[in-house]
Amino acid sequence: HPEPTTLAHTTRFHAARQPDAPALICENRTLTYGDLHRASNRLAHALRAAGLGEGDRVAYLGKESEHYYEALFACAKTGTVLVPVNWRLTATEVSHILRDSGTRLLFLEEEFATIVQNMPTAAPHTVVPVGAIAAWCAEHPDGDPEFEADPDTPVAQLYTSGTTGLPKGVVLAHRSFFAIRDALASEGLDWIDWRAGDIALVGIPGFHVGGLWWATQNLNAGTTVVVMRAFAARQAVDLIRDLGVTTACVVPAMLRMMLTEPGVGAQDFTTLRKTVYGGSPISEALLEESIAVLDCEFAQIYGLTETGNTAVCLPPAAHVPGGALMQAAGRPYPGVRAKVIDDQGRALPPGTVGEVCLHTPARMVAYWGLPDKTAQTLVDGWIHTGDAGYLDEDGHLFIHDRIKDVILVAGENVYPAEIENVLEHHPAVREAVVVGIPDERWGEKVHAFVVPAPGTRPSPRDLHTFLVPRLAAFKLPAAYEFTDHVPRNPSGKILRRELRDRFWADTARKVN
Ligand code: ATP
Repeated sequence: HPEPTTLAHTTRFHAARQPDAPALICENRTLTYGDLHRASNRLAHALRAAGLGEGDRVAYLGKESEHYYEALFACAKTGTVLVPVNWRLTATEVSHILRDSGTRLLFLEEEFATIVQNMPTAAPHTVVPVGAIAAWCAEHPDGDPEFEADPDTPVAQLYTSGTTGLPKGVVLAHRSFFAIRDALASEGLDWIDWRAGDIALVGIPGFHVGGLWWATQNLNAGTTVVVMRAFAARQAVDLIRDLGVTTACVVPAMLRMMLTEPGVGAQDFTTLRKTVYGGSPISEALLEESIAVLDCEFAQIYGLTETGNTAVCLPPAAHVPGGALMQAAGRPYPGVRAKVIDDQGRALPPGTVGEVCLHTPARMVAYWGLPDKTAQTLVDGWIHTGDAGYLDEDGHLFIHDRIKDVILVAGENVYPAEIENVLEHHPAVREAVVVGIPDERWGEKVHAFVVPAPGTRPSPRDLHTFLVPRLAAFKLPAAYEFTDHVPRNPSGKILRRELRDRFWADTARKVN
């Protein structure tokens, strides 16, 4: 069997070479590559028998488990497209996804049955309870259906989490799950590497591109993937120790939670050789603390669902505490290009902030059923990211923030991450989030939400005094609000809109 180039081949390849090697560990269950191959074959036959074939949509609503990956590979082996659904969504949101995608069959974990019952309109799909999958396909053979997928055949349709509006279905083909691996291998780069014997922890849920990408990269490489039903910091820290985890992929918010678990500073993390993180900006303070505590190589990834996850990587060698690149997102992989443009679409020189655009072989096929939105975002092969950032002279990309989150104070652009970063260096600040709120005189002003460090009670005056020598006057928060938590979506992104909305209730915000 040749090396897999599509997900239709992944389990076939490893089941032939290492049938007894563990592929997936979830709770106390282990599936070998042989088990995963046979289970997904059987399910693929059952999907076919249910009349599902190329291009049909199959949705999955449930927490992480081996069944999710069986469904993924079964889809890959039949040409059907998996639509993973975030189980934290409301019935209305789930209903939108099922209808928009034209889902014909839904794998539904019993725990979330009420979501489906409460959907405003009944959906025209068959439901197979996750707990009944084995029985549903028991009569079918477990031999390989030998479906030959093309690298450009769609295999997954992920809905962007909607921090910018109604979720859009991003159609990804097999190529998205192989292009970056191939790019790294072509130049022998070890920015991110997958080694035989690795035990890889997936922190990010599989219904987000980050989690799905990390799990599939590892399964393509034949390592062992450890999935948690849902991320829990204590469990993640314990799993690293108990299973001898060697690599992990997490968002910054997960790192923050792991570091505040009792006893973590004294834990021995020697098995861990690499932590891959990304999905939202990380403060220098959190990154430095993570490096100190986890004591392994770090690689940052930057990308979007639309770019098939990562297009840019900050390799381990650039992770020098105090170094100039600690705030960079990284540089494009071989074969990936990045440019920064102004609002007229003209390319900007190094050092100038504009919209980041990425040209990557892992990019999406399209937004499902949205040709106009596709044409706005995907232009001549370039994905327009909606992120503000700049490139330095050496081609390192620095991401500021979402363009829509940039605060306009008296005509000056203020990037929330910059202020948050400085605030988080204050010893009494555990976490800081700033948003733009209306101001009669200046248009907008900066409003800071602060989660105090345990056992501290910082005052607005303390924080102001700390910031004055570090930030230009127009960037200083006009007010501080103390809170005990910051709202985030499951991929760790701050829900700034939620924080911002009450201030803008009577004012039309200039963007979004
Ligand atoms: P929506 O597009 O609907 O807002 P979303 O925010 O969940 O949904 P994703 O595709 O999951 O969309 O996230 C992509 C965004 O995450 C990027 O545009 C960027 O703003 C942010 N991001 C990802 N990686 C990084 C990183 N390493 N540093 C900073 N920001 C990052």
